[in-house]
Amino acid sequence: MSASLTIVMYHYVRPLQESHFPDLKALDLTRFCGQLDFIQHHYQVVTMEQVIAATRGELMLPERSLLLTFDDGYRDHYEYVLPLLIAREIQGSFFPPACSVRDRRVLDVNKIHFILASVKDSSLLVAELFAMIEEHRTEYNLRSNEEYFLAYSGGSRYDTPDVTFIKRLLQKGLPMPLREKMVNRLFRCFVTEDERGFAENLYMSANEIRELYSAGMAIGSHGDRHLWLNTLSDDDLESEIDASLEFLSKLGVLTRDWVMCYPYGGYNDAVLAKLRKKDCALGLTVEVALADPAIHDPLCLPRLDTNDLPPNSKY
Ligand SMILES: [Zn+2]
Repeated sequence: MSASLTIVMYHYVRPLQESHFPDLKALDLTRFCGQLDFIQHHYQVVTMEQVIAATRGELMLPERSLLLTFDDGYRDHYEYVLPLLIAREIQGSFFPPACSVRDRRVLDVNKIHFILASVKDSSLLVAELFAMIEEHRTEYNLRSNEEYFLAYSGGSRYDTPDVTFIKRLLQKGLPMPLREKMVNRLFRCFVTEDERGFAENLYMSANEIRELYSAGMAIGSHGDRHLWLNTLSDDDLESEIDASLEFLSKLGVLTRDWVMCYPYGGYNDAVLAKLRKKDCALGLTVEVALADPAIHDPLCLPRLDTNDLPPNSKY
């Protein structure tokens, strides 16, 4: 029988009450420490290199093995996570999108998180969005407000219908130029006008990522601009992947076996074919399940969210 592998996915990890945005949907640092205690008690933390070797049948992973992964390149990972992993002598794998580090731009997905963390009453934001859709309805040939709400407010595992609607409408639901315009307007209005300064605080710098790497952590690709890879044309997909690899290579962290962590978990057959051509060793999705390196396609490994671990766990 082959051993199962738990891959856990983290995003923001910070001492929330002392931060500027205590309402951010983040994992509090105290809970993270507790989770690490639990993990080290019940699991064997493995490295990315071991997982790659296991998918090739070169190595058998230990019983109850677990891989820690951290998406989006937040400074949280350098400031709070790295010292804990070093002290515990375990490895984490980190996936910074190139553009936020290189260009100091705040990703739209992060802007949306901080807009939500800055406005306590999410129905106010829904009303703002409805007004903006109204304003642009003819120009973009948009559907009715009710149709959008019906299409985008349901089925979330963690969020209320209002919050689900805000996130999905702004991440995917409207034409790209309009989404960007709306996100930027809300971000400037409710969060800050200084995007560059905000990005410098939010994301790691290139040197901080190099430090992570020299401390034995694994670094992989999370795309260049954090786009849904399964929505891109062949040329755009190619340049998105190449730009992210060039970014890793400039950091000095591109190894022969590189790993793709799909932004938003988005991939399809065309993406997989492209990654195979470029000798990608592993692909990490957001499908919720335990991974089995002997059975799963190495480019489609499922992950659990931190919220799926105990005390909430069914795994
Ligand atoms: Zn991401």
